[in-house]
Amino acid sequence: MSSPRDPLTVAPATDHRAFRTEHLQADTVIVGGGLAGTCAAVTAARAGARVVLVQDRPVLGGNASSEIRLWALGASAQLSNNNRWAREGGVLDEILVENTFRNPEGNAVLFDTVLLEKVVAEPNITLLLNTAATGVTKEGERIGSVTAFCAQDSTRYELAAPVFCDASGDGVLGFLAGAAYRMGAEGREEFGELFAPEESYGALLGHSIYFYTKDVGVPVRFTPPGYALDDITEIPRWRSFDTTVQGCRLWWIEYGGRLDTVHDTERIKWELWKIVYGVWNHLKNSGAFPEAETLTLDWVGLIPGKRESRRFEGLHMLRQQDIVEQRTHEDAVASGGWSLDLHPADGVYSAHEGSSHLHARGVYQIPYRCTVSRDVPNLLLAGRIISVTHVAFASTRVMATCAQIGQAVGLAAAWCARDGLLPADLVHPERMRALQRELLRTGQHIPGLRLDAPDDLARQATLTASSELNLATMPADSPAVPLDHSRAQLLPLAPGRVPRLTLTVDVAAPTTLRVEIRTGNRPDDYTPDVVLAARDFDLGAGEGQRITLDVPASIDAPRYAFVVLRRNDDVSVRTTSHRVTGLLSVTHTSTQEADPAVGRPRVEFWTPERRPGGRNLALSIDPPLRAWPAASLGNGHARPTAQPNAWAADVDDDRPTVRLRWDAPRRLTRLELSFDTDFDHPMESVLWGHPERAMPFCVRHYLVRAGERVVAERTDNHQTRDTLTFDPPVDTDELSVEVLASHGDTPPAIFAVRCY
Ligand SMILES: Cc1cc2nc3c(=O)[nH]c(=O)nc-3n(C[C@H](O)[C@H](O)[C@H](O)COP(=O)(O)OP(=O)(O)OC[C@H]3O[C@@H](n4cnc5c(N)ncnc54)[C@H](O)[C@@H]3O)c2cc1C
Repeated sequence: MSSPRDPLTVAPATDHRAFRTEHLQADTVIVGGGLAGTCAAVTAARAGARVVLVQDRPVLGGNASSEIRLWALGASAQLSNNNRWAREGGVLDEILVENTFRNPEGNAVLFDTVLLEKVVAEPNITLLLNTAATGVTKEGERIGSVTAFCAQDSTRYELAAPVFCDASGDGVLGFLAGAAYRMGAEGREEFGELFAPEESYGALLGHSIYFYTKDVGVPVRFTPPGYALDDITEIPRWRSFDTTVQGCRLWWIEYGGRLDTVHDTERIKWELWKIVYGVWNHLKNSGAFPEAETLTLDWVGLIPGKRESRRFEGLHMLRQQDIVEQRTHEDAVASGGWSLDLHPADGVYSAHEGSSHLHARGVYQIPYRCTVSRDVPNLLLAGRIISVTHVAFASTRVMATCAQIGQAVGLAAAWCARDGLLPADLVHPERMRALQRELLRTGQHIPGLRLDAPDDLARQATLTASSELNLATMPADSPAVPLDHSRAQLLPLAPGRVPRLTLTVDVAAPTTLRVEIRTGNRPDDYTPDVVLAARDFDLGAGEGQRITLDVPASIDAPRYAFVVLRRNDDVSVRTTSHRVTGLLSVTHTSTQEADPAVGRPRVEFWTPERRPGGRNLALSIDPPLRAWPAASLGNGHARPTAQPNAWAADVDDDRPTVRLRWDAPRRLTRLELSFDTDFDHPMESVLWGHPERAMPFCVRHYLVRAGERVVAERTDNHQTRDTLTFDPPVDTDELSVEVLASHGDTPPAIFAVRCY
């Protein structure tokens, strides 16, 4: 708190004045408050570090803030790919789940408040808004301090710490500290990347500015400013503009890919304003859009969203092959799943498509070494500036991926400060295992890794449940869906023979329907490349026909199988209203054809319908699926992977309860529970809107008992992870969790129960 000012200040003339300077000592200084910096700061603070977070703008979120209004996306990519249950976990998950709960309409201003609240709730964070990092001092190779300036407060800051994180998007810290960086596109030869762009798609991804419109119900005139684009046909795809698009859907209003996207940003901004007002002039005044009569411009971005500038060289440089081949890394700390998404260098003025995509079959790991500066030993990199090639950057750059990288970097920074280590020291296998373990424990999803926490007292307990879901039938109580595309039901199968499956179909005219059992190439892969069995059913016309698939196929390891009904214009398949944790139906929407010349694999996209759609197919399963045992609660996964990894109760269980019993009393100080907030739902942060505030599978109300004594009750949970602290500690040889209500009509389910 600053002290109150004297009622009157009379300052005599002087030769020299300097701004007030504040010196702050922290455990880590994080520059940049985009989603990467925000998640890094929260994670570091929760790990006990004193954090200074320096953000040059008035709010947090970077490109996701109300100043720019991009929706935060990541591996689940708006359900356009095969990355099932891939929404990012950890701090970003808390943020997106909270935003969906408070702000399902996707109001960008409210998203700002969710982010700000998350940061100011951490007493360990000193948040400096409107404060730009402007310099560094070096001590040998290391950064000693960062200089920053807040024009609002006329205050300079000297910020000292043993370890620094650069999450500034342009990499201002790394740049000033002299770290090696790259800008632009590498050629094919350097990293053997076949997707490395030719001239037209080369250079950098450009900046963009969005606008929002509003219907005010009365005619509104628009006189364009003198700097607006006169001739809309200068934009080769000008016919694509119409009055329905605004915000993120204008992502292709892009410019600057051939300029210096750091130092020419103001120039690029003016060009983007010129385009935006020219587009609006076209919509309002060309006469082609009578519905524009009552529309007005509600908002135009004042700051351009930056896609690409510097990428820094770290201990590993992620490349196309790491992503497409889904290579594993000993030091994996985060995941990605967006396509390699390159844009034409001339942006909106290019006649090319706005983007060129190359999808991998599934998600990929991001190694910690990509975040460790090769040259500045106490500098960590987070967000879009990490050590990746231009091609790999085209995937890692999306904000949810950046946020996960931020979470890993925040924890690494806290541990370096605590233990007197440098970031590179954490690559050591034992330290890396510990880092990965703590990331997993706090909700980060690292594909292929599961939590193995020796200090989790639940591991020493016998786990039982009042009941376990045995799924025998999902009744045909909902409308039939036409097989205008091939459709499939994902079923979590155990090793052994595929169960007998009975579906219900309506047939308009005699036909042959092909039904298949397919799997992915890998147990946790949802691209159904492998056909295990197929059968043709000759069907006459008629409604409600039951067809039974009984094939001699068997499953080698626990994994999801796809029960595929191939496209058939004469057939519809019945669906069910029943929803269960870890069950999904998908549709074959499109196919990425293989192109070996650029390293593009063939990928059939089998994607679910968005919430609240996406009904399961009605099915009878014999023998029933037993994929939701109580043992799942301790298997180290907290989302579906090769199996649902959840305990789910029988639908008729009127007191669904899980119980942990120890051979002798244990002293418990903390209970951590993981619930199902539908990791398949992308929860875009702005504009899109969501039909539900809380996910139906998520437990809302539960009781915790030690023996017979109630030690905690939660009535209003909607978050993925819920942590209860026992103060004083609870001494007991039996702990139970009884689920009283979920947010929807689904069997109660829990992914993980951990005790400390
Ligand atoms: C038009 C456009 C469309 C895109 N589409 C999507 C999309 O739909 N979904 C998606 O997830 N991603 C999208 N991206 C990519 C994504 O927005 C960026 O890659 C991402 O924002 C990078 O995250 P970051 O945290 O590294 O950087 P940023 O979000 O840029 O955050 C960096 C922060 O650091 C601050 N900063 C910079 N310099 C300083 C300094 N000197 N001192 C203090 N603070 C500083 C900045 O103000 C900013 O707030 C798009 C990008 C653009 C431009």
